[in-house]
Amino acid sequence: MASVYLGLGTNLGDRQANLRIAVDALARLGRLCGQSRLYETAPLYVTDQPSFLNMAVALATTLAPLDLLVRLKELEQELGRVASHRYGPRLIDLDILLYDDVVLDHPQLTIPHPRLCERRFALAPLADIAGAIVHPQARITIGRLLAELPDSADDQVIVAAQSLT
Ligand code: ADP
Ligand code: MG
Repeated sequence: MASVYLGLGTNLGDRQANLRIAVDALARLGRLCGQSRLYETAPLYVTDQPSFLNMAVALATTLAPLDLLVRLKELEQELGRVASHRYGPRLIDLDILLYDDVVLDHPQLTIPHPRLCERRFALAPLADIAGAIVHPQARITIGRLLAELPDSADDQVIVAAQSLT
């Protein structure tokens, strides 16, 4: 059984409902054992789009990393993600942030998520449920990675944190 942390993001439609449906669907892939608060985040990279709601969940699963990725991509399709340009608007984005202590560099899948350490919108929710977990490459905890993130980038400001109701 692997201990996996997933990042969820949405910036279209009823964003809370999108997250709720996604979390329910993720329960089919294993045992959900943690849920972060919801973070409202200004869009990065492509800034003329609605702001995102982000969260992280902990999942205990028997799925191997690539099998898990396939299932997540299926869920994204099923939950109505429309083909869109990279970093553009999306109903739901499901990313593998951490998978045990696995370090994987595969054409379709990089673990830990390659941009985790620079993304406040990924680190902040993850720290809610995995603050004491050590990042296998950075070799410091998620909590410390978050604390040490430079707060100069005003495009990564968290404007609200709340729980999924
Ligand atoms: P992003 O999540 O970076 O905004 P996408 O959701 O469009 O971008 O993902 C593009 C591709 O990234 C996916 O099809 C997948 O093959 C690849 N990928 C690489 N590493 C990961 C990971 N850790 N979690 C999810 N997808 C990943
Ligand atoms: Mg993704």
